[in-house]
Amino acid sequence: MLEIKNLVCRYGKVTALKGVSLKVPANSLVVLVGANGAGKSTTLRAISGLVPAASGSILFNGEEITGRTASRILSLGIAHCPEGRRVFGQMTVLENLEVGCYLRKDTALIRQDIDHIFGLFPRLAERRKQIAGTLSGGEQQMLAIGRAMMSRPKLIMFDEPSLGLAPNIVSQTFDIIKGIRDAGTTVLMVEQNAFAALDMCNHAYLLEAGSMVLEGPGEKLINDPHVREAYLGAG
Ligand code: ATP
Repeated sequence: MLEIKNLVCRYGKVTALKGVSLKVPANSLVVLVGANGAGKSTTLRAISGLVPAASGSILFNGEEITGRTASRILSLGIAHCPEGRRVFGQMTVLENLEVGCYLRKDTALIRQDIDHIFGLFPRLAERRKQIAGTLSGGEQQMLAIGRAMMSRPKLIMFDEPSLGLAPNIVSQTFDIIKGIRDAGTTVLMVEQNAFAALDMCNHAYLLEAGSMVLEGPGEKLINDPHVREAYLGAG
């Protein structure tokens, strides 16, 4: 579904991605792990069209999307749930969900999708008129996930969905993400919580200092001595 070939991205003189390649097959959950500053968020931002590619290519269902605008990429079916949740703090829960589908015109289906999101996240349903900035961290994360789903994406990207959440909310969030994959939406996820992420994925990539150094099924990375030492806190 998604294929990145030799992607190079720069911020001024800093080369954040030095020729990254990865594949995300349809209906899979692919995880990108790596240390702070490795270039994980940059990879997702480049896919979304928020960071330009200096060279390389990004293909979505065989179509070159490098250089397309973020809004065009969203309309092709790629949604991005960014790090730090970034809900619209001054708007209500319901308004945030409505913003998530601003490209859609199918009003009846939009209502149905909002009901579906409220079914998945009853806490959001109870708070539909609450100003999003006053939600708890976990509730804001649910809202950010719900908002990304409102565009009916084919591929949904999560950047650090567990960041700052209490442990029980983290496992709930991961269950929801697995559920999204099981319902047929392809998922690409960046996650610091490496063990949980590797345990739940179909395939994983390890990014170090802008280069892809290892890939394989989650258990391959979990059993890799370097990954165990550097990312899983084991010897
Ligand atoms: P983290 O886990 O800390 O979020 P990351 O793997 O997502 O890290 P990126 O945010 O992609 O890493 O950053 C990759 C590199 O690019 C880092 O060296 C970072 O300092 C640099 N970088 C990111 N955004 C910018 C920017 N807007 N301007 C300049 N440099 C940037």
